[in-house]
Amino acid sequence: LELIFSFRFILSSFANTIKKMKEIKDLLSLKSKILITTHVNPDGDAIGSSLALYNFLIKMGHDVTVVVPNDYPDFLKWMKSDDKIINFSEKTDYVKKLLNKIDIIFCLDFNNLKRINELGDLIQLSNSKKVLIDHHLNPDNFYDYKYHNVDASATAELVYDLISFIDENLIDKDISDCIYTGILTDTGSFRFASTSSKVHRIIAKLLDKGVRSDNIGKIIYESNSFDKLKLLGYSLSKKLEIICGGRAAYIVLTRKDLSDNNYKKGDTEGIVNYALSIAGVNMATLIIETKERIKFSFRSSGDFSVNHFANSYFNGGGHKNAAGGSLENKLSVALDKFLESMSKHTKELNY
Ligand code: 5GP
Ligand code: MN
Repeated sequence: LELIFSFRFILSSFANTIKKMKEIKDLLSLKSKILITTHVNPDGDAIGSSLALYNFLIKMGHDVTVVVPNDYPDFLKWMKSDDKIINFSEKTDYVKKLLNKIDIIFCLDFNNLKRINELGDLIQLSNSKKVLIDHHLNPDNFYDYKYHNVDASATAELVYDLISFIDENLIDKDISDCIYTGILTDTGSFRFASTSSKVHRIIAKLLDKGVRSDNIGKIIYESNSFDKLKLLGYSLSKKLEIICGGRAAYIVLTRKDLSDNNYKKGDTEGIVNYALSIAGVNMATLIIETKERIKFSFRSSGDFSVNHFANSYFNGGGHKNAAGGSLENKLSVALDKFLESMSKHTKELNY
């Protein structure tokens, strides 16, 4: 009986998935003016999923613009149509005018308009149809259409589902490169628990379209600047701390640390993973002092939910094993709050 019930559950969630994709396909049956946007500090999944969808919708004949809230690292600036991306923080007035003419807005890889600050306020006010495609926990209710699954490895996986449902023949090598990049980066190179057999089946199809995993791997992981690597070395040799009886590690980088190391956007990306890689450490945190606030990046392995932790103490969220948040305090106050919060959860990290 249990088997029948679970089978029925799988069938009904499958039917529901198809229904959601069909609704979005129908929405796209008329040629439209479309805006695609994604979260602040866009990462590989944000840019990969946005440009995959962009290139696909252009091939369908739509009039499309990708708008990012702010700049993103150079190692992501190579995918097809990257040169068409509009940076809201640089072209605010242009985007404000553009928004008046938009029919459909796709929100990719985030689920709360507060995550994109002023651009979010503008989208909230817009009369366009809003489509959410995302895999983060607890989506806010601001959309007209939603294709959302927390079990998806990346938003790029969901974009792949959707575009292959609409017209698989339109997926070319350029679009495949974008999807591949999103999944590669959001799965920690196909390592995280989210890397299902379905993910590998999608990757196989992308390779058949001509994607070169060696080339993309080189661009994403072997294009560090000298300064970025020196900052990593400094962070590990001078700033790495172990707490919670060896179960947690953290690194604090002050504004001075960053400027002393010629910090450029993207240079701190990946540092937190080194802290997590220590044997016995189940949770790692990177704390960065910026001009406006203290930014936290949390990572965990196993059961401890950093999404919950980020949400409880740091106005943030994300996924179970990768989340972020921020505090608008001085660094010393924020650090005290962090250490106090950690001490409350030390027991849970003992696995
Ligand atoms: P990262 O540590 O790489 O900045 O972010 C890790 C994950 O947490 C990402 O999936 C990101 O979307 C989410 N995240 C990062 N910062 C915040 C934040 O301030 N608020 C929320 N809700 N999510 C965040
Ligand atoms: Mn993502």
